Amino acid sequence: MTFTFVTLFSNLVEGYFNDSILKRAIEKNIFSVKYLNPRDFSLNKHSKVDDTAVGGGAGMVMNPQPLFDALDSLKKEDENVYIVFLTPVAKPFVQNDAKRLSNKSHIAFVSGRYEGIDERVIEKYADEVFSIGDYILTGGELASLVICDAISRNIEGVLGNSDSLTVESFETPLLEAPSFSKPKLYEGLSVPSEYLKGNHSKIRSLKLAMSECKTKFFRPDQLKKHCQGVK
Ligand code: SAM
Repeated sequence: MTFTFVTLFSNLVEGYFNDSILKRAIEKNIFSVKYLNPRDFSLNKHSKVDDTAVGGGAGMVMNPQPLFDALDSLKKEDENVYIVFLTPVAKPFVQNDAKRLSNKSHIAFVSGRYEGIDERVIEKYADEVFSIGDYILTGGELASLVICDAISRNIEGVLGNSDSLTVESFETPLLEAPSFSKPKLYEGLSVPSEYLKGNHSKIRSLKLAMSECKTKFFRPDQLKKHCQGVK
């Protein structure tokens, strides 16, 4: 699996892969990460990549030429590359997308900057567009990293214990039950007594009740799906 970050600011992305689980996955050759800077493809004598918006409007928009050429070069290198644009003008990215996209061989994330990307680039090259939430970031790099991280942990071998994947929030509509680590008593605060008694069926029932309670409080929309039997 390869992830290519198409960005003007690869240094914002690189550090994330320099530690922890994703660093180890790269060392084990489970996936690799590449960077492509649209500025390197700019035909402008000052390597400009943006201009004022046609038709008026605040701010600068990323020009089509550097991105057309960068993405053409990427497709020439690998015709199977799956191109994902990050933009607030898109459907929200969810866990099922992370699982589905973990089966691709090569994903390129295209980050916008300024007021965004000339729509013709998105029209021509996007296999999919995602938003990571109802707020505006200064650029798509963080959004790319969020999506890349969520996809990566679904690739076989990335997580030490793949069981972690099946019991997490969003595997079913319910949010996960609270977790506790040792010691059992800390500063006068105990873990739920049922967790200590070793009756696994009772622990399961308690966890389900707590999951429902958390989901009702934080995500009533998800609880509704649970009650309707949605997977
Ligand atoms: N003018 C755009 C709008 O109102 O929809 C916002 C542009 S934003 C300042 C610059 C870039 O950040 C976008 O092109 C996109 O790549 C990225 N971005 C910002 N918010 C995002 C979000 N919620 N999800 C995904 N990408 C986002």
